[in-house]
Amino acid sequence: MHEISLMSDIMRIATEELVRHGGRRLTLVRVRYGVLNQIVPDAMRMAFDAFIAGTPHEGAALELKEEPLRLRCRGCGKEREAASREEMFRPCPSCGKFAGFECRAGDGIFLDHLEAE
Ligand SMILES: [Zn+2]
Repeated sequence: MHEISLMSDIMRIATEELVRHGGRRLTLVRVRYGVLNQIVPDAMRMAFDAFIAGTPHEGAALELKEEPLRLRCRGCGKEREAASREEMFRPCPSCGKFAGFECRAGDGIFLDHLEAE
């Protein structure tokens, strides 16, 4: 369950931001993650609930937004949205070559937005 350590990092950053802005409690945490990160949303929610239980942030909402994978062909430069990571291991549909792909989106976890009071 890598969601627990991810959520631990997210909550550390979120509470640092909260203190920096003089807030007392988090009311909303929005996390954006790429399909490559293979997040299980239910596991993220369980980890979130466990982290906020018994803290001033108890009752805060967690919003999860999955970001699609965008691949850019290193051969022809064409960028496209890919449905799954397996497409990284197939030739480019535009030029037909296998020149490798650069991930333009869909690989990473970001603290997107916070609301506090
Ligand atoms: Zn190509």
